[in-house]
Amino acid sequence: MEETRWTSVLTDGPGETVRSIVARVMNAIAITPYAQLDSLALLHQVLLFTYAAREHLSFSANVDVNSRLSLALEAVSADLPLFLHGGLVEVAWIVEHLDRMSRDGISGLAEEANYLAAIDELIFAELDKDVWQGHYDLISGLVGIGVYLLERLPRPSARRYLERVIYHLDRSATATEDEIRVWRTSPAHMSSSERMLCPVGGYNLGVAHGIPGVIRFLSECVANSIRPTKSRALLDEAVKWVLMQVDPFDGSNFPCWITPGRVIKRTRLGWCYGDLGTAASLFQTAEIIGNSPLKMSMLDVLRRCAERVPQRTTNVGICHGCLGVAHVFNRIYHSCGEVVFRTRAIEYYLHGASAFMSFGSADHKWGFLEGNCGSVLALLAGISSIEPAWDRSLLLSDNVSFAIGLSH
Ligand SMILES: [Zn+2]
Repeated sequence: MEETRWTSVLTDGPGETVRSIVARVMNAIAITPYAQLDSLALLHQVLLFTYAAREHLSFSANVDVNSRLSLALEAVSADLPLFLHGGLVEVAWIVEHLDRMSRDGISGLAEEANYLAAIDELIFAELDKDVWQGHYDLISGLVGIGVYLLERLPRPSARRYLERVIYHLDRSATATEDEIRVWRTSPAHMSSSERMLCPVGGYNLGVAHGIPGVIRFLSECVANSIRPTKSRALLDEAVKWVLMQVDPFDGSNFPCWITPGRVIKRTRLGWCYGDLGTAASLFQTAEIIGNSPLKMSMLDVLRRCAERVPQRTTNVGICHGCLGVAHVFNRIYHSCGEVVFRTRAIEYYLHGASAFMSFGSADHKWGFLEGNCGSVLALLAGISSIEPAWDRSLLLSDNVSFAIGLSH
């Protein structure tokens, strides 16, 4: 992906304001007793404090990242599901990501890679089965496991099992009425509220749980020569199908769900669902595979997202809150350099930061996708000149851009 060096978009007064808010929130996070935290909450903190370590933030708490990491790994339950977000695959992804940062001299964390062998065994055993029974999605399914295996490259085992992920994606794609093969979500893999809307299942057009996430994952398989012909064929069919679903409605282009006889439209901006996340996925895919017409058409959708009146949502998280919107706009700004994306990113960062003005430790909401660790990582990306490579777990950047970010 063509990418310029990462720079802070929040500078001068706004930058100082956000910097002091981040320091205060991190102080509150740091002094939370370990006993209140489960393994994933501790790992999210380790990720946050590792990224923050180079930012010269002044906060008073003394943070021992290595002891947090050890405690987190001791507390991991083997009963966690194999999910990239909220499961064992997330544990493995964070450990591998921290290990890569350590090898690249970004952090001083101890080598923890051997820890991953046991989790890899569980993942490989599932992928070796003839039929994949789980979801195909990024958050809790095949694509999420694939994202972890991308992080494990260039290990031969990661390459071999990425090929198994492609095998299962190929087998689980089914023909639509238009004779195009994509991935249909069965009711068994929907939340209860989604099942009420789509009782017979349907096609999901969000990045987090749907087809755009598969497309974006496949683009990295093509770039890394993981069954490139098959990956590209699946990608091309899915892109064709998604573009056929463009259905302008009240300022938005993509519906969030399509189910027989019903199209569920949603107009809000967010990473997980809606035009912003979907178009960003296809835009980055187009950059990676070198498809200029797709890149231009998705840039148009993204510009329309930037033209929309900023939402004043009370949700600040990176999944579907304003800091996720800020972060995606910032990513697009760093890809194409158009000032409108920078302007919108700043507005959403400041709106998100304002939610933390009166933050106290009692207000802490755990988590990465919807909690404060993810929110603060997003704010850090706004004031930092270090590339936020943690967003590879959201398929918002790739290994190539990470390498470029490190070289500066
Ligand atoms: Zn969400």
